[in-house]
This record gives sequence, C-alpha cells and structure tokens, in this order.
Amino acid sequence: MTGGVLALAGGVGGAKLALGLSKVLPADELTIVVNTGDDATFHGLHVSPDLDTVMYALAGLSNNETGWGVAGDTFNSLGQLERYGNPAWFNLGDKDLATHIRRTELLRNGSTLSEATGSLCASLDIAIRIVPMTDDPVHTMVETTEGELPFQTYFVREQCRPVTLAIRYDGAERARPSPGFLDSLETASHLIICPSNPFLSVDPILAVPGVRQRLEKFAGRRLAVSPIVGGEAVRGPAGKLMRELGHEVSCVGVARYYQGLCDIFIIDEVDEGCASEIEALGMKVHAAPTIMQNDDDKERLARLACHLLGVPLAS
Ligand code: GDP
Repeated sequence: MTGGVLALAGGVGGAKLALGLSKVLPADELTIVVNTGDDATFHGLHVSPDLDTVMYALAGLSNNETGWGVAGDTFNSLGQLERYGNPAWFNLGDKDLATHIRRTELLRNGSTLSEATGSLCASLDIAIRIVPMTDDPVHTMVETTEGELPFQTYFVREQCRPVTLAIRYDGAERARPSPGFLDSLETASHLIICPSNPFLSVDPILAVPGVRQRLEKFAGRRLAVSPIVGGEAVRGPAGKLMRELGHEVSCVGVARYYQGLCDIFIIDEVDEGCASEIEALGMKVHAAPTIMQNDDDKERLARLACHLLGVPLAS
C-alpha cells in the first residue's frame, strides 16, 4: 500500500497511458486528474472532451480510429441540429451526446463537475477515480495571427491552422483544484505526467493556483513520458505549437518545460541520443518504446513507469 499514483492527463495520449495504468494498478491506488481547459458549450450542453476521452477509454467505449468519441457512434442528432441551424463543426455522436445531456442535467441540478464525472463513471462501471482538474470554469484561449480563438474553434473548426502567438487559460487565476485533485496532491506518493500536449493539456492543470508549487515540492517521485517522439508529436498540434511558441520540438524541449516537476523522464527509444542532454537538466532518463498502438503497448508502458517509480503493481 502506497499513497497512490496521481496521473495528470489530457485527452488522447493521456487516455492511452491512463488505460494502461488502470490495468496494472489497484483501482484505489490511482487518481487521474484531467484537463478541463478544453471544455465548451455546444447546443446548450456542457462538453468536457478530455474527461470523456479518458472516461470512454477506461470504459472500453473509445473509438480507436478517431481517438475521440464512442466506437460505432452515429451522428443523426447532429445532422438534425444542423437542420435547425446549429453549427455542426464540432463532431458529437448520438451516444456521446447522451453523456453531455446527462452531465448538463447533473450540473443544472447543482452537482459539481467532479460529482457529475463521478456519477457518469459509476454508471459506466469505472472503478478508477477520474477527476477534473477543477470544478471552476477555465477556458483555454489561443492567441493567433488571426485573433484570439477559444480552444475548440482553434483546434476543431480551424484545424490548428492559424499561427499561435500565445496561450492563456481564462478563469484559471480564480480556479481551485477539485476536491479529488487536492486530496491526491496531499496523499499521493507518486506523480505521472502522461504523454499529453504540454501546452494544451498539462499547462492548464499547472495553471490552477497552487498546483505547480505543490508539484514542485511533491514529496514522492515524479515521472513524465514525452509526447514528442523523433522530433514530432505522435499526433495533434503539439509539435506545431512548440515551434510557434519558440520551443525546441524534441523530447529535450519537453524536458526543459517540465524541469522542476519531473525526476524521471521516459523518452522514446528513437530519441536515445538525447538522454545526456536531458540528464544535464537533472532528470533520470529512460529510453523505451513509447508508441501505444494497442492495449498491450499501453500496459507495457504503464508497467515500466510504475517500475521506474517503484510503485507496487496489482498482483
Ligand atoms: P488531446 O487533448 O486529445 O490532444 O490529447 P493529449 O494532450 O492527451 O495528447 C496529445 C499528445 O499525446 C500529443 O502531443 C501526442 O504526440 C501524444 N501522444 C499521443 N499518442 C501517443 C503515444 O502513443 N505515445 C506517446 N509517447 N505520445 C503520444
């Protein structure tokens, strides 16, 4: 028995390692704290894309081809909404919509986002604690050469095309960590930063007041997995963003970003040559295969992370 593992995650990359961790750790030893800076309102419904990606992954519902949404979902409701004149650029399947309808109902009836997430997870038989970074509204805003865009407009409608100048997390300064996050920050003995987008997924979590300082002083060992492999993002805009924001697009660039927050850094085997540069930043480096294409890959990487941290695994 340890104080448990606190894992920080965004959507697709985070959900992959979160699933692996859920296979190798006892359920009461893992808390997954998820970015909510991407949350948005569509058709009057509260959509939490990263929470849902992690939730669907752990419930075995994920659409592995797209990385988002529910496998085999249909889009009849979205088509009808479009007929009514609603914008339909944000893809929401019929089953996925049920999640947002239920979440919105719970929130309107006075539940916090943590409580609503707990209720959805319980209905999907998820035993692991999945908690939002905060119950307060935080909105990632992307300042681009075409003006400031809400995250989903930049990410989905504009397909990350505009050049990014800066990113800010609107509301973060007034946000408090969710109760489950606070509890885990106080009791967890190990931290894992999943291979998520450092700017769009991990940074909003760090922007919640007090979080960065607590993680800098975290009593246990801290490990991160690089989302940049061979000088590019495995998928998504992380590489483009790093370049546009003036960072080196490499696992070294990510390691620099996590300096002070991470003791052990897992880089991909193709990046082994970068190890000494990262070690010079004060981290232990381990090179391994980090591309998670199937459940075995996810479990293998989760096992390795736990082994490097010295976390006992579920028998
Ligand atoms: P998003 O919110 O859906 O963009 O998801 P995340 O922020 O969690 O993940 C996006 C990041 O995960 C990207 O930078 C990818 O390069 C990275 N990523 C996705 N799949 C993998 C993988 O299998 N291995 C590694 N190392 N990184 C991955």
